[in-house]
Amino acid sequence: MSPLLSPPALGLGTWKSSPSEVGEAVRTGLELGYRHIDCASIYGNEAEIGQALAGAFRDGVVQRDQLWITSKLWNDCHAPEDVRPALLRSLSDLQLEQLDLYLIHWPVVHRHGVVLPQQATDQIPLEQLPLSQTWGAMEALAEEGLVRQIGVSNCSGAKLKGLLQTSRVRPAMNQVERHPWLQQNALLQLCQQEGIGVTAYSPLGSPSGAGEAPLLTDPTIKAIAQTHGATAAQVLLAWGIATGTAVIPKSVRRDRLASNLAASQLKLSPEELQQIARLDRGHRFVDGSFWELPGGPYRRAQLWDEAV
Ligand code: NAP
Repeated sequence: MSPLLSPPALGLGTWKSSPSEVGEAVRTGLELGYRHIDCASIYGNEAEIGQALAGAFRDGVVQRDQLWITSKLWNDCHAPEDVRPALLRSLSDLQLEQLDLYLIHWPVVHRHGVVLPQQATDQIPLEQLPLSQTWGAMEALAEEGLVRQIGVSNCSGAKLKGLLQTSRVRPAMNQVERHPWLQQNALLQLCQQEGIGVTAYSPLGSPSGAGEAPLLTDPTIKAIAQTHGATAAQVLLAWGIATGTAVIPKSVRRDRLASNLAASQLKLSPEELQQIARLDRGHRFVDGSFWELPGGPYRRAQLWDEAV
């Protein structure tokens, strides 16, 4: 359906875009030239995004085959029999016949129907319902043609290697947090070796609006931005693209949607890329601590397969 072989490098994120504002953000984004929208059922706004997409197709703003749409399987639908119904709900909400990319959102499992776990018994250990079982159902979606590509998100190198051992259809993508303070070099290298794309989420450091946006005020980033007459956000996004990933900044503001998109035109020098390479400090803004429940099966060290 869509001739795009991989997601355009600069996409639009939709987490925390409220249902009342996401439709306008998507419509504005499409009018400005965004051709990649990152969605997920857990964001609770796919129906509004679907309305915006349908309106944009109807009004000739863009054609379906010019667009890349990603969505994600939520943690309570990992059981193989729950995967297809979850995808069909997202397709119905998004008013689409096919997704370009469907991701397993987290290597974390909830009991079916538990959206956000409150207690340990709401969670199921990965050993009991391993990713390989969920992946089998994801492969069936690709074979049926309901999704063009399948992938994972928040997956460590160790989990990715495990999946590669049993998969028939290889994951096309790993969507992970990535920005200059969390450069993920080893994971990036593994993905490049295995031909797996990387999409960088929270590329601006996921500022919530309240208080400081620490990554956007990093002195090195600000200095580079000043040299180019650019914004700090544009430098962060240009760095993500220059280092081989897609980036999916979220905004609901027209001015930021426009300036973020323009970051794809910003070229950083080798010296600037070296300066930014030195900023890595392994800092996660989305650290997975919300999956740690007393007596539960998930701990950050095992989630990321690294010391935290
Ligand atoms: P982000 O894109 O790093 O930051 C978004 C925040 O930055 C919003 O508060 C936004 O506010 C603000 N912002 C946007 N452009 C700006 C600019 N030019 N200057 C200053 N502030 C700006 O964070 P994110 O939403 O966490 O990550 C992006 C997307 O990645 C998500 O929306 C989602 O699609 C995806 N994601 C996926 C996962 C996963 O588990 N797979 C996890 C997190 C995120 P305004 O809207 O008010 O502009």
